[in-house]
Amino acid sequence: MAYKHKVEDDRCKGCGLCVAVCPKNVLEISEDINTKGYFPVYQARPEDCIHCAICCTMCPDVAITITEIAEETV
Ligand code: SF4
Ligand code: SF4
Repeated sequence: MAYKHKVEDDRCKGCGLCVAVCPKNVLEISEDINTKGYFPVYQARPEDCIHCAICCTMCPDVAITITEIAEETV
């Protein structure tokens, strides 16, 4: 199975906790504001993500989810 990493932009308050704990330095704070007036986090380097879920565990607002997705068949 493959995994999909998703940030719910409008739940994120841009605290940066997830950015600090990511072992692969995948996440950065966006320069675009969300509907709550915060700068949300996004995956700046998604190709480096190992789906370890540390960011999901760390986020106090449960703004990040990792879900299993079916492998694309070629
Ligand atoms: S799942 Fe792991 S590697 Fe991917 S962004 Fe979160 S902390 Fe970083
Ligand atoms: S820990 Fe959660 S609220 Fe804080 S920047 Fe990361 S996703 Fe946003």
